[in-house]
Amino acid sequence: MNVTKLVCSACGVTFAPGKVYNLCATCGMPLFVLYDLEAAGRTLTKEALRTREANMWRYREVLPVENPAENIVCLGEGWTPLMPMPRLGAELGMANLYIKDEGQNPTGSFKARGMTAAVSMAKELGIKKLAVPSAGNAAGAMAAYAARAGLEAHIFMPQDTPQANVIECREMGAQVTLIDGLITDCGAEVARRKEAEGWFDVSTLKEPYRIEGKKTLGYELAEQLDWELPDALFYPTGGGTGLIGMWKAFDEMEELGWIGSHRPRIYSVQAEGCAPIVRAFEAGQTHAGEFPNAHTKASGLRVPKAIGDFIMLEAIRKSGGGAVAVSDNAMIKAVREVGQLEGLFLAPEGAACYAAMVDLLEAGQIGEDERVVIFNTGTGLKYLECFGED
Ligand SMILES: *Cc1c(COP(=O)(O)O)cnc(C)c1O
Ligand SMILES: [Zn+2]
Repeated sequence: MNVTKLVCSACGVTFAPGKVYNLCATCGMPLFVLYDLEAAGRTLTKEALRTREANMWRYREVLPVENPAENIVCLGEGWTPLMPMPRLGAELGMANLYIKDEGQNPTGSFKARGMTAAVSMAKELGIKKLAVPSAGNAAGAMAAYAARAGLEAHIFMPQDTPQANVIECREMGAQVTLIDGLITDCGAEVARRKEAEGWFDVSTLKEPYRIEGKKTLGYELAEQLDWELPDALFYPTGGGTGLIGMWKAFDEMEELGWIGSHRPRIYSVQAEGCAPIVRAFEAGQTHAGEFPNAHTKASGLRVPKAIGDFIMLEAIRKSGGGAVAVSDNAMIKAVREVGQLEGLFLAPEGAACYAAMVDLLEAGQIGEDERVVIFNTGTGLKYLECFGED
């Protein structure tokens, strides 16, 4: 409705809307969607939002679909609860600790936000066959939205992806190929075959719209906190779409006149066995090298090299936040800590954020009075093989 153009995140070249794009044709980097926010703000107001639908398409004026009535492929994603954590907070001496529970999305993870946007745009642009490399949850979401849109889904996942993801994809009618390797190897396989097969590549940040879906996390956060952003955010980081998307959403909301220039400190949380962003952050680098021998039970964090690394590192630094690595043992322990006090069954990725937050609280980098939001990006139910029997 209000898209004006697409712009390259690295070289700044612009592209006209309404066409099929993957990466920047000039430099091969991710594209961002730009909007006429003045036009968007005429109908998208804080007042209007009060009576909008309880899903992320409530923000449709700042989402890319041109013809929402025909092309939005919706399973009820977004508008997940932002829950106070009184019992955990009491234990830690924190009065303003929240978890945003993205495990309540369709297909059990926040990948639904990105995929509803990407698949809706694929439908609008007349694309018929989608392909995606995935560490797990992106695959399940893609399979579900493709099924609902009547599009073909071709999915490539590592052999040791959690069972729930593999089963879900097959039952949603997707073509599933398991690869003896990492998500980067799956991505290479999609890249190798896509031209001959006529597939559209829906890899993280390699098409412009998953990030648009994920940015709604930022809009919801502001709206649910009555338009006052928190002091600090903990985000479990793989490809970084949600982190980059929220950073974009904050700028858009400032331009809409909804928030000021204050930004939360963003803490990127990764697994010790796969922490390219943490390593680059600590080394003061602008880009991250490929992390060798990547391994972690938190499959969503098993991304040894992210194409948007430079965008994430800049956002983290500008926000005054940081990057923290957590061991697999600490995440699995944190699942039970949160579960037994608050009744939420976190994914290991979300639990990693909780563990990282406790570390920084103890180190004095997070204040007890600060308003802190942890993103639980998925449900623990999709990771049953990670948990013991005791
Ligand atoms: C994909 C995923 C992540 C990482 O998200 P990015 O946007 O790729 O950084 C974190 N947690 C879960 C549960 C995921 O599925
Ligand atoms: Zn470019």
